Amino acid sequence: MTSLFHHVKLEKIAPAEWKKIVVVYDNICNLDRTIAARNPLPLPQPFDRLWMDPLKVLDVFHLSNHVADCRKKYNPRDIKELHPNLEKRNTQAAEQTNSWFRHFIAILNAIPRDRQLFYIHCLVKARNDYLYERSPAEMEEDEVFLDGVSESDWEEVEE
Ligand SMILES: [Zn+2]
Repeated sequence: MTSLFHHVKLEKIAPAEWKKIVVVYDNICNLDRTIAARNPLPLPQPFDRLWMDPLKVLDVFHLSNHVADCRKKYNPRDIKELHPNLEKRNTQAAEQTNSWFRHFIAILNAIPRDRQLFYIHCLVKARNDYLYERSPAEMEEDEVFLDGVSESDWEEVEE
């Protein structure tokens, strides 16, 4: 739920668009049954309704671990109905990312926190460039690191 909140805030997704969001989780049935999920969230409006609107589905590879009711209610095929023009979907994306990220735990535990954040930033940027096969010119255009940093922020950093 925290990730969903941050995603909506960062991407500035309007409440009217929340019904197009898809939440994929291998244990979505149990999460959706929690008291926190059944009631409005303790957030200011309209974010109190954030969990209610998105489509919630199970990850494809975890379907067999769930009973028929779960497979029906949280079926990943529903993504295709919500987004008929979506050619591909990867309900394993988060797990694949976590699996990749685990390789760096020992390194990250051995360096100070401020360097951890910088190291993570560089890792994520390199992975995204690799996954999306960006050209060097495209990579320069997509300087995520600079997003939201004003000129005055940089002056403070350089002092
Ligand atoms: Zn289930």
